Amino acid sequence: MRATSIFRGVVGVEQATVESVSFEESESGHGLVAVVAVRAWKRQRSRCGLCGRRCPGYDTGDGRRRWRTLDLGLMVTFLEADAPRVRCPTHGVVVASVPWADHGAGHTVVFDQQVAWLAVNSSKSAVTQLMRIAWRTVGAIVARVVAANDQARAAAGRDRLDGLRRIGIDEISYRRGQKYVVVVVDHDTATLVWAADGRSKDTVQAFFDQLGPQRTAQISHISADAADYIAKVVIERCPDAVRCADPFHIVAWANEAVTRTRIDTWNQARALMRTEAKPVPGYARRHQHLPARDRVAALKGSRYALWKNPENLTERQQAKLAWITANEPGLWRGYQLKEQLRQIFTLPAKEAPAALDAWLSWARRSRLPAFVELGRKVGRQREPILAAITHNMSNALVESVNTKIRLLTRVAFGFHSAKALIAIAMLSLGIDRPTLPGRKSTHG
Ligand SMILES: [Zn+2]
Repeated sequence: MRATSIFRGVVGVEQATVESVSFEESESGHGLVAVVAVRAWKRQRSRCGLCGRRCPGYDTGDGRRRWRTLDLGLMVTFLEADAPRVRCPTHGVVVASVPWADHGAGHTVVFDQQVAWLAVNSSKSAVTQLMRIAWRTVGAIVARVVAANDQARAAAGRDRLDGLRRIGIDEISYRRGQKYVVVVVDHDTATLVWAADGRSKDTVQAFFDQLGPQRTAQISHISADAADYIAKVVIERCPDAVRCADPFHIVAWANEAVTRTRIDTWNQARALMRTEAKPVPGYARRHQHLPARDRVAALKGSRYALWKNPENLTERQQAKLAWITANEPGLWRGYQLKEQLRQIFTLPAKEAPAALDAWLSWARRSRLPAFVELGRKVGRQREPILAAITHNMSNALVESVNTKIRLLTRVAFGFHSAKALIAIAMLSLGIDRPTLPGRKSTHG
């Protein structure tokens, strides 16, 4: 076997011939770099970079061009080839396509695949250090990989929205609540199927437009955030689907109500502290309650103890909660209301209506303003909540997709574009998880 044929496998190019391998001092501080000169096979040449159609040649373009590819051992490596232009009847004069890279990309397909795999499976610093690229470049690459996947699917006459029956529509904020994306989750496969920048009726309309009337008619259940603009479009476009509440949001509301109650309690204790004289020794024991200053101190930092699911509490947080049980009856009542609402979603369908009604009446009588208000809000969602439980739309898988998307918004923070955030979410939670280049599966 000739060394150049072996190099084809080493650098992972297909449908192309390796002409030579040379080494040179890099201009960008990478030390000695390898340059692998390649030439596409004849049947791959003279094709439009956008549509792949064979076209007449136009000119030699900007001459030789380089694409960063995977390192050879320790050495930064580039593929180098001619980049002529062709005249496409549809797209005009464009750079011809090459089999080893996407149109307009500065990196090869194998490089992109490895970056995508790392972006999903490792940390931000692991990707950028190992691949020696900026985080923004990672964002551009994952967006390119997702676009290429979608293009391949479209070429086969398919898209991500095929076969949807039960879906969830949700809005997610990022960049500290300044920006939003609308996401659509498939409840049956627990995958993310669609996402777009924005938070308006138009954003949701765009999803149904892409879905089209035939596939929209197949949607049997929709869980949605209570946001008005989502609900309005859902009613318009899918009048016959069963509408379900998204348990994730209802529980999030309850958590907000606990937070408000905690702040109210803390403010009351603080107001009391200002008027309270220096505590008399033995006062607390005699009066069976604590001086306000102690309450203020103890309430501080109880946020997570109240907010986390009880099975996930640390020992310190358990102690905080025990203290609240003993000393802050109002706040403790709020905590129990939150936990009970969370439990309702795990009940068998036939027990749920009575449990929800009992909860609603307890919230109404709770004398906690935040929970009286929550009771009203939840009451308005009674039917969608019960539908979610009856139709088993409250499964933990979807809740975990929701949680993971929210985590990704933090990771994707440095991307500066919704497109990159959406792309990394699609790769992490959608149907095509990235595989390493040259492997049949992630275990290969
Ligand atoms: Zn074309």
